[in-house]
Amino acid sequence: MAKSSVLGYPRIGADREWKKALEAFWAGKLEESEFHNQLQKIRLDHLRKQQEKGIDIIPVNDFSYYDHILDTATMFGIIPKRFSYEGGVVPLSVYYGIARGTKDATASEMTKWFNTNYHYIVPELDGAAPTITENRPLIAYREAKEKLGIEGRPVIVGPLTFLKLSKGYDVSETDVWLKRLLPLYVQILQELAFEGVQWVQIDEPILVTKLSEDDRKRLKIIYDTFAAKAPNLNIMLQTYFESVENYSDIVQLPVKGIGLDFVHGLSGNISSIKTYGFPEDKVLGAGVIDGRGIWKASLREKLVLLKELAGVVTTDKLIVQTSCSLLHVPVTVKNEAKLLPELKNALAFADEKLDEIALLTKAVSSGESTITDELEKSESVLQSLKQSDERNRNDVQKAVATISAQHPVRSLPFAERHTAQQKKWQLPLFPTTTIGSFPQSVEVRKARQSWRKGEWNNEQYADYIRKQIDLWIKLQEEIGLDVLVHGEFERTDMVEFFGEKLAGFAFTQYGWVQSYGSRCVKPPIIFGDVAFEEAMTVEETKYAQTKTARPVKGMLTGPITIMNWSFVREDITREQIAYQLAYALRQEVEALEQAGIGMIQVDEPAVREGLPLKEEDQAEYLAWAVKAFRMTTCTVHDTTQIHTHMCYCEFHDMIDSIEAMDADVISIETSRSHGELIHSFELNTYKLGIGLGVYDIHSPRVPQVEEMTSMIERALRVLDPNLFWINPDCGLKTRGVEETVDSLRNMVKATQIAREKH
Ligand code: GLN
Ligand code: ZN
Repeated sequence: MAKSSVLGYPRIGADREWKKALEAFWAGKLEESEFHNQLQKIRLDHLRKQQEKGIDIIPVNDFSYYDHILDTATMFGIIPKRFSYEGGVVPLSVYYGIARGTKDATASEMTKWFNTNYHYIVPELDGAAPTITENRPLIAYREAKEKLGIEGRPVIVGPLTFLKLSKGYDVSETDVWLKRLLPLYVQILQELAFEGVQWVQIDEPILVTKLSEDDRKRLKIIYDTFAAKAPNLNIMLQTYFESVENYSDIVQLPVKGIGLDFVHGLSGNISSIKTYGFPEDKVLGAGVIDGRGIWKASLREKLVLLKELAGVVTTDKLIVQTSCSLLHVPVTVKNEAKLLPELKNALAFADEKLDEIALLTKAVSSGESTITDELEKSESVLQSLKQSDERNRNDVQKAVATISAQHPVRSLPFAERHTAQQKKWQLPLFPTTTIGSFPQSVEVRKARQSWRKGEWNNEQYADYIRKQIDLWIKLQEEIGLDVLVHGEFERTDMVEFFGEKLAGFAFTQYGWVQSYGSRCVKPPIIFGDVAFEEAMTVEETKYAQTKTARPVKGMLTGPITIMNWSFVREDITREQIAYQLAYALRQEVEALEQAGIGMIQVDEPAVREGLPLKEEDQAEYLAWAVKAFRMTTCTVHDTTQIHTHMCYCEFHDMIDSIEAMDADVISIETSRSHGELIHSFELNTYKLGIGLGVYDIHSPRVPQVEEMTSMIERALRVLDPNLFWINPDCGLKTRGVEETVDSLRNMVKATQIAREKH
């Protein structure tokens, strides 16, 4: 008999109960003990659901109070020195301090989890020897067993992945750190084995990336050690997001099971299995149901695949599972009441995926005939979506084919545009600006609610937005900023806002997924051909410009970011979707320009996360991503200044591509990652306008002038002062009004100091 399994379940709850509990606790509205109770209830509900759906192997310790990498770090007592921590179980104040910053200490860096939009907290291995503060997997295992009689499978982030994702140590010290960590892992595993735990899932997604010779040796040391020290514990070595590199090494490791992604790493993993076989004594975790996508699977196709795999291992050694944790998809389609039926029927979120897993497992074990009806149903819903009008717009397909055959280029090269723009705009040395959004107070959100509910008419709402714009234009002038923004008060979310106005998109009511900490996003669904229908941002931007003599920067979200932060159709390539978006957004850029807006920012914070994990696929992706950005922006006049913005990812290896986007100015997050980006520019001679973020926007703390001055000075050691801008790391939407104003005042002071000096 085959078994069914899930690699992780979303934490947030169908109604975001988890987020609400966290935020209430942070706001001091929830006692710590009550907070623990609420989170436990959520956790147990999720386990119960998986049990009821008939999942055989249910993960435990996938739940978190914030992020599972932070959990791993704090389990090992890895607490950056700047937080006062005296040993023992890590208090929530320290735990959340690392994640969010405190009055006295800046937060740890957060960055994107492989190629997803989930952000983890980067562990800082800054010296102190790690110790076990508590055995979290064991606690989770006991809880599931005692409360629900579930024989859970604890999930642990593997040592190699943990080390590779951590920072604060020199590569030459990797083995030192491995030596410190390995015994702790061993102790965790031994305690689990002693408790009677049968299986653990050790996640090593790093195995889908290229490893150095040294790391391959470390991998062997790690799993040899586990096998020697915890011989009775069965390890499922779990990989995901791509096919594994070094397959032949991995299958020889002394573990009892290997989990492979047969959705995102399908061709690579299959070809490895064909070439090298799969060891008879191991269990194969077959990740056939997409843990990141939202579409129903073709059960027929999946069965063909599973049959192929059942020819490699015997059925009793086959586990039918999700390709990765379900963390990346919303909880359930069930409560959605506003979707087109042909769309809704074709969707599968976490809970529906549990059903798919259970069905496939049944079919593998007891024969296809046991699920005949469901097999047919899955084919017919996919067919009817394929035939929908939204997926077959001739006008869009034709226009996009034409413009994507052209080479998108501005009429003058940057150096000449720069001269023309300087002449037109007369900006001072080190122009100051912000990234776009200003604080969205409770009041702003309430206003939007009233309008959405129909309590306010369009005019009332528009009037309210205009008042916000008035207020902030005045504030920006007072603060002394050079390039102003309208503040994005009309937008809940930078992708949703555009998706609602473009054709081809659909919106769920409850389709939230965790982005970082308590922050959840509700990605739109690009299910049809994308098309521009009417101007989306012109009214507010134009209005803001009438209120000031200084330039107001228009604010758009770029094609790649809209695509990467949406769930997308799978019947055409991502490249095609990007070009459809680019063509639609270009029409908005042109509309803004025609309305007299001379600076237009096209945000692309999500370029990096679409980067394929396999090096050999990256150049192609970057080429069409850059092309899509250029398609969006290339038709404007030379004096129209195109800005872009990026944040919270690794930039150092994509500076060439950023340059190829040919934006006149980029603002780029630098401070949250503690200025590390600056080094990348030592080797690169970036020749376009650039503002490296001078302060982190995640903390309510007001940064001091000196901190920003030192950031500016560091940057100016490697960048051309004549091309340098001064701005915060990112948008200020989540900040309070007062702290925002104070921070920006300090930023302007730091700018004045820099201007005097240079
Ligand atoms: N313009 C957006 C804002 O200011 C950019 C946000 C982002 O980079 N994620 O909110
Ligand atoms: Zn940003």
